[in-house]
Amino acid sequence: MSRDDHKINEEALARRAKIKNPAKKGKAVIEPHFCKGCGLCIDACPTGVLLFREAPDNRWGVEVEIDGPDYCSGCGMCEMICPDFAIFAYKTEDPEKKAV
Ligand code: SF4
Ligand code: SF4
Repeated sequence: MSRDDHKINEEALARRAKIKNPAKKGKAVIEPHFCKGCGLCIDACPTGVLLFREAPDNRWGVEVEIDGPDYCSGCGMCEMICPDFAIFAYKTEDPEKKAV
């Protein structure tokens, strides 16, 4: 991973560290074959769910992983910003409503 990739990861982790009570109300799904590792989704995620990881077999050498799934709110920012339709997000059922 490049120095910029590491910096993007560090900034995402810093955003995640500020969240005291993870939302756990959403899920993001990556389609790795469409992902070119640009990192826009990582930058766009307000809660630092997504990170770069090394991918030696990938032509870009990196790929995106859902590193902090509990922190996903399902806001859809990652999906909206991805230029290649390689990531999708949705709201999951609210666990509190399920208990009612
Ligand atoms: S924005 Fe899309 S193409 Fe870019 S790293 Fe994220 S999932 Fe991959
Ligand atoms: S849906 Fe929102 S919180 Fe979840 S990974 Fe995408 S940008 Fe991050």
